[in-house]
Amino acid sequence: MSFLASQAEEPSGSSARPADPQTQLLDERNTAHYRDSVLRGVERVVAELTGRDRPTTGVAPERLEPEVRRIDLDDPLGSTDEALEELERVYLRDAVHFHHPRYLAHLNCPVVIPALLAEAIGSAINSSLDTWDQSAGGTFIERQLIDWTAGRLGLGDRADGIFTSGGTQSNLQALLIAREQALAGQATSPETGWQLSRMRILTATDSHFSIVKAAKLLGLGSEAVVPVACDERRRMIPSELDRELERCRREGLIPMAVVATAGTTDFGSIDPLPEIAERCAAAGVWMHVDAAYGCGLLVSERGPSLSGIEHADSVVVDYHKSFFQPVSSSAVLVRDRATLRHVTYHADYLNPEHHADSVPNQVDKSIQTTRRFDALKLWLTLRIMGPEQLGRLFDGVLDLAQQAWGMLSVDPRFEVVTRPELSALVFRYVPSEQVSPELCDRANMHARQALYSSGVAAVAETVVDGRTHLKFTLLNPRTTLSDIAEVNELIAEHAERYLKEPDEAAPHRHAG
Ligand SMILES: *Cc1c(COP(=O)(O)O)cnc(C)c1O
Repeated sequence: MSFLASQAEEPSGSSARPADPQTQLLDERNTAHYRDSVLRGVERVVAELTGRDRPTTGVAPERLEPEVRRIDLDDPLGSTDEALEELERVYLRDAVHFHHPRYLAHLNCPVVIPALLAEAIGSAINSSLDTWDQSAGGTFIERQLIDWTAGRLGLGDRADGIFTSGGTQSNLQALLIAREQALAGQATSPETGWQLSRMRILTATDSHFSIVKAAKLLGLGSEAVVPVACDERRRMIPSELDRELERCRREGLIPMAVVATAGTTDFGSIDPLPEIAERCAAAGVWMHVDAAYGCGLLVSERGPSLSGIEHADSVVVDYHKSFFQPVSSSAVLVRDRATLRHVTYHADYLNPEHHADSVPNQVDKSIQTTRRFDALKLWLTLRIMGPEQLGRLFDGVLDLAQQAWGMLSVDPRFEVVTRPELSALVFRYVPSEQVSPELCDRANMHARQALYSSGVAAVAETVVDGRTHLKFTLLNPRTTLSDIAEVNELIAEHAERYLKEPDEAAPHRHAG
């Protein structure tokens, strides 16, 4: 690039690179550029939303990877418009649209506009919620949302918690606290390593894999997570929990926590919380409830009850799953705020000990340090829409799931695993003629991949009792029963074609 070209200012909308990098700093000198730039981005999103009639474009990784790889990051374009044009090619054009009514795959929700407004504000001001001196009002906004959530959960007036990046991190923090509580209760035993090797986390076979991941990160043994059997509605069986607690006692193991799930990732099933709470109280074991998905019930009018959750020692909620918030927005809550001390460390430069009582530093409660002001999204959502409207959105998908279950369960082409409690539906295409279970698995895999490649709809795949199943996760209140009926027809068509001509019908990879 010539010296002259590099000196050129970027007039609004032109493609020349601005000479002075300071023009790219957000401050009072550059407000026009800031407004113009962000609005250009918003316009691109609007064009994407209005220009596409399907949730995916079915793009293959082989096609996108070289597009991205070819870009030389040491050779900037220097212009907002050119960079956006390029972004269109490598990202926007083929991005997966969670807000499309036929996106039925994973636990991704369409997002509400007040939260997007908050994203724009929060990122621009760029508060960091670790300390009071980096966040001011942000600290109290976050605290009030935690109190509000704890109030809805019924955790009592000693409750507290913190926003995190997601359910995985929230589960890790809750189990870290549970581990420390259990260790504290073992004061008279031998060394820590020996105790860690005897720690056990009891959780249903259908709980989230982040529990196993957390156990690993917490230095527990490979046997640490004890699976407890589920009933046919995929909920933990209390008498099986009794059996495992009793086995722990007999073998001198330390049951460190029972993890109940309020809304399993595959089935949306809710473990029997009151029965589990009773057992945890009797055995003196930490009760953790993973409500990453089911937390939408905290604002729902018509959904099943979360009763029993008020007995939990810790709870995880993912607002980015059922509160229609953008990623990321999650929280971990504890019944007794004193237990958060297990993540409190002091640094002279950040949150010195002599300030501990007078300055509200959220870092004292978090396993992160620098931390996004994710709470602002939920704050503006509640202040603009309110909990009742959020609940109506979630109730919409709960109702739809019941209707969809009604439709699928009488359709002879499909087997549904269980009636949903929330908004997930797991099923399998079964042909009328006898075929091997393996061939049936492959027909279902093919149907999912073919749907994705066509872009018409996105559904998920999972394995139940060793057999491939398909899954709808309904989180879009705009999705209708006829969308679902249409997708069912396509699944059956793709699967039937595969069974007739497995080789012809299978040009696609069977991505998992
Ligand atoms: C999604 C999910 C998680 C993990 O949450 P992330 O926000 O994806 O980290 C944990 N538990 C359950 C039950 C979930 O559905």
